[in-house]
Amino acid sequence: MAFPEPALLGSNIMTNKENTAASWAARAAGLAIEGRAFIDGRYVPAIAGGTFPCINPATGAVLAQVAHGQAADIEVAVRAARREFTTGSWRRTPPAQRKRVLRRFAELIEANREELALLETLDMGKPISDSLNVDLRSSANCIAWYGEAIDKIYDEVAPTGPNELGLITREPIGVVGAVVPWNFPLLMACWKIGPALAAGNSVVLKPSEKSPLTAIRIAALALEAGLPAGVFNVVPGYGQTAGQSLALHMDVDVLAFTGSTRTGKLMLTYSGQSNMKRVYLECGGKSPNIVLADVGDLERAATAAAWAIFFNQGEVCTAGSRLLVHESIRDAFLEKVVAVGRSLKLGDPLDPSTQVGAIVDDLQLKTVLGYIEKGKSEGARLALGGERRRTESGGYFVEPTVFSGVTADMTIAREEIFGPVLSALTFKDVDDAIRIANDTIYGLAASVWTRDISTAHRVARELRAGSVWVNCYDGGDMTMPFGGYKQSGNGRDKSLHALDKYTELKATWIDLT
Ligand code: NAD
Repeated sequence: MAFPEPALLGSNIMTNKENTAASWAARAAGLAIEGRAFIDGRYVPAIAGGTFPCINPATGAVLAQVAHGQAADIEVAVRAARREFTTGSWRRTPPAQRKRVLRRFAELIEANREELALLETLDMGKPISDSLNVDLRSSANCIAWYGEAIDKIYDEVAPTGPNELGLITREPIGVVGAVVPWNFPLLMACWKIGPALAAGNSVVLKPSEKSPLTAIRIAALALEAGLPAGVFNVVPGYGQTAGQSLALHMDVDVLAFTGSTRTGKLMLTYSGQSNMKRVYLECGGKSPNIVLADVGDLERAATAAAWAIFFNQGEVCTAGSRLLVHESIRDAFLEKVVAVGRSLKLGDPLDPSTQVGAIVDDLQLKTVLGYIEKGKSEGARLALGGERRRTESGGYFVEPTVFSGVTADMTIAREEIFGPVLSALTFKDVDDAIRIANDTIYGLAASVWTRDISTAHRVARELRAGSVWVNCYDGGDMTMPFGGYKQSGNGRDKSLHALDKYTELKATWIDLT
């Protein structure tokens, strides 16, 4: 995902309506929030009748009660998904028609973008400007992109001799179980359902228990767009119940997961314990942002370094959480990063000028504050922030925080914090930078800043990461595959490569004699 340029935020917010914190709050008060599961084309309560509270992290208040989906709900959803796959209501729909439905789905997301953005912000704590300008725009674009792509992909004919015909075709796999996290709730769901549906599969989506509302809402939009009932189902619930039931289900063919490395490892186990379903993992990161001595525009690189960690409150899998600065420019560079961090406006997520919102929940808040304490106790120097803010709101806010003097062995240099906490390290030369950058269990993303094109290529090649950015951070669009090396996962979201995860390769050999 690309993080927004500061100019995109605040005043440039994409809405024609009144754009103030008060007007968004008024709209929030008037929202009718749907909390039921969406199974087989309709909203239903959990079979056992249970619910769990959905909390607004900016206030700590209960937003809605959400259906507590468990094994029985997953069972009904998977059955509906399997029935539709078998009858072929969607699988056999010609690609050009699937395109029309997905494009209509994207248009409906676009048409409801303000309601969806509001739900996302209330549910997850991210600034309303980001929800509108980043999450909603990217989500609608993702669905439209796969819709557009699907009637332009050809199969292959093998280079056989004259007496045979070898067809190599792609077919949808069946029922896809998608389990997604809370940091970009709608966008991560769309990265899965876009290619999975385009390829002709059925989907059962389990959103995070911390942010289920937009997934629940778009299920009805998909039906309205023309997707047959039962092809796309959403079952909210906890990881240990709904998530695990989906992952262990004997009739789920693919598990498409985005979340922590810890849970990703469990997913592999569940597959082995059940039906050997294919498991595709998009997991955590501890991405290095390398600034070489010949960086050139210090200002621009420092602004990018700050946004790389503070965007979305640092709750970004690709967050540039390890800043590696050449020792000769350390002080000048850090001074600028700290200045940008200090200038960011932390506040009410419903205020269009807010740039740093709330941490997703009390648990994550404690995790982030715990890492800040760990950084201090292990000897790193606090150059900015370090405190909880806006306690009087009842919400969970942490100010942008920068640690300098971090060494590669410190906990804050090794573990994913998933909060607005930057660990700044130094290096002596390019080889030293590459060594430190790769000294991690993760391999999701990395960045290098230099004016020397040869150095840029050499470093990019040596970095063990799925995405490498040169002289920018978090660049990319739907045309680029996204995923991790090492314990950041396998498989790729986005681009045509994502379709590999949701299709089987069939070899048909025809004897022509
Ligand atoms: P998480 O692993 O706690 O949860 C992710 C999802 O898995 C949730 O829906 C959760 O309910 C479910 N889950 C949890 N335990 C489960 C279990 N035992 N069985 C089945 N399902 C279970 O992760 P999170 O805290 O929601 O998200 C943050 C993590 O996601 C970070 O590590 C971040 O880096 C990662 N992430 C990665 C990408 C990527 O594309 N690589 C993108 C966004 C987030």
